[in-house]
Amino acid sequence: DIAAGIIASAVISIMAGLFLAGRALIPIRNAWDKQQRFVADASHELRTPMAIIRGKTELLLRHPVSTIEQESPNIAVILKESKHMSKLLDDLLTLARSDSNQLQIQSSRFALDSLLRELAEQFRLLANTKEIEIQTNIQESLSLWADEGRIRQLLIILLDNALKYTASSGRIEISGWYQPNAVYIGVSDNGCGIDESDLPHVFERFYRGDKVRSRAEGGTGLGLSIAEWIVTAHGGTIRIESKLNKGTKVELLFPRHPVKK
Ligand code: ADP
Repeated sequence: DIAAGIIASAVISIMAGLFLAGRALIPIRNAWDKQQRFVADASHELRTPMAIIRGKTELLLRHPVSTIEQESPNIAVILKESKHMSKLLDDLLTLARSDSNQLQIQSSRFALDSLLRELAEQFRLLANTKEIEIQTNIQESLSLWADEGRIRQLLIILLDNALKYTASSGRIEISGWYQPNAVYIGVSDNGCGIDESDLPHVFERFYRGDKVRSRAEGGTGLGLSIAEWIVTAHGGTIRIESKLNKGTKVELLFPRHPVKK
């Protein structure tokens, strides 16, 4: 019964996700080819967790007299894959909506220094389990004219990546300060870095440099595509510098004052 319930909810969530993504794709002006590839890639990405969930559930059904305790490793895999699928669907919906201009940027002036400190604190808790140090270099009273929710989402993507791709005992630095005509935000790490041949492609949808590591860490290959969309929608720029086995630095620049549309 548990297995059937899990399968049913997974199937319903996939169908609902694809239905919504499909609806959001309708008004898109961009090239049809690009969208077709997006949908094909999305289906392909959903196939792996779905196959794992299905395989594990069939296994559970073959052991009808076993206890929950005996089967908990299989159930844990089903849970992990379902979470991965939910994340994938969330990311797909964000991108599909951004493509069809359904996502609005609601800008206001907010305390960027507080947000950066809050996220540093939040990620310090996660980083502690890997003995990674989080350092900050944040200017006092730093403010930004932007959509705070989207900037938070952007920073979480970058910090998540820094944490995913940095080994134990590493270091992550979060910086933020005013430049004469811009607000600068930097997230750097001394992790595994990105191969020179992968670097030009990291903003592409579903592109993963280190496929095994990304998949193991729950990556979807969509994080930096969403990050780039958020930065561009604010009239900002995003730049990545990276050296294999040395580390990665992501630099963001945002306009200091509201940009006239
Ligand atoms: P993913 O979900 O795979 O992390 P992203 O779009 O966020 O997808 O990133 C694309 C690829 O860029 C990753 O698969 C990884 O190879 C590389 N990457 C991104 N951030 C970092 C980082 N801080 N250190 C090393 N590699 C990174």
